[in-house]
Amino acid sequence: MMKFIKYSLAILLLIFIFMAAFIAHTAWRHNMLSSPVYDTVAPAIPDFISDDADTKPNVLLFSKTNSYRHLGAIPAAKQMFTNFAKTENWNLFETENAAVHGKTILDRFDLIIWNNVTGDVLTQEQRTAFKTYIEEGGQFLAIHGTGGNPEYDWQWFPKTLIKAQFTAHPMNPQFQDGTLIVENTEHPTTEHLPKEWGRKDEWYSFETSPRADVNVLISLDENSYNPSRWGDKRELGMGGDHPMVWHHNVGDGRVYFSALGHTAESYEDQNFRKFMKRSCLWLLQ
Ligand SMILES: [Zn+2]
Repeated sequence: MMKFIKYSLAILLLIFIFMAAFIAHTAWRHNMLSSPVYDTVAPAIPDFISDDADTKPNVLLFSKTNSYRHLGAIPAAKQMFTNFAKTENWNLFETENAAVHGKTILDRFDLIIWNNVTGDVLTQEQRTAFKTYIEEGGQFLAIHGTGGNPEYDWQWFPKTLIKAQFTAHPMNPQFQDGTLIVENTEHPTTEHLPKEWGRKDEWYSFETSPRADVNVLISLDENSYNPSRWGDKRELGMGGDHPMVWHHNVGDGRVYFSALGHTAESYEDQNFRKFMKRSCLWLLQ
């Protein structure tokens, strides 16, 4: 009997060690164990961005992560935007160096895209430059993880720029089939989508609905999935009003936020790609 108990305890201990190692490895892979890195030396900006004679739109694609790293979505989105730049004739500059957020550099760009940027990534000076860029008429597209920090040191980001504070997403299971309601079927960025858009994604929830301050384009039907972290409590429900895609003005600038797009597969989906391309084209107008 003692032997049996000893063996059982040993097996339990092994399972525990294995699980702890697995969790630690997953956290490490997704960049969740490292301390934030702030960049202070700006990258060299290629001539094609600087050249005033060139009338092509200049697009900045920024993908730095100081917290959870979307290992699949970041490269998939980079590939998608690189492809758009080719077909739509844009100058695209892609970087993970946050020091690109300086006034003279930002002013050269017609559109800034934050591709699943997580954690606080900007220094005080960079924050001021970026805020000024937006307020003075800059165009900003924020994708999924960019609005998915559970907390921000820089409160202007969730409060004014995104207009919503992320709370959590389901973990059991993390990815669920859900039905998006395309609320505005006349907007240039969503008019190609079905009124009820079925997708599988990691569904974000926010502290409160930003509806009063933004133009909601797409929301999520909370009855189409289980808005619960681990079980059946449905504690991630937002009382039925669950916006997922919206746009609004910040000063003279425009912000377009999409909470969609955790998986790499999203960026292969034709409806999703069209939606992303149209968002860029609308912001570049
Ligand atoms: Zn995600």
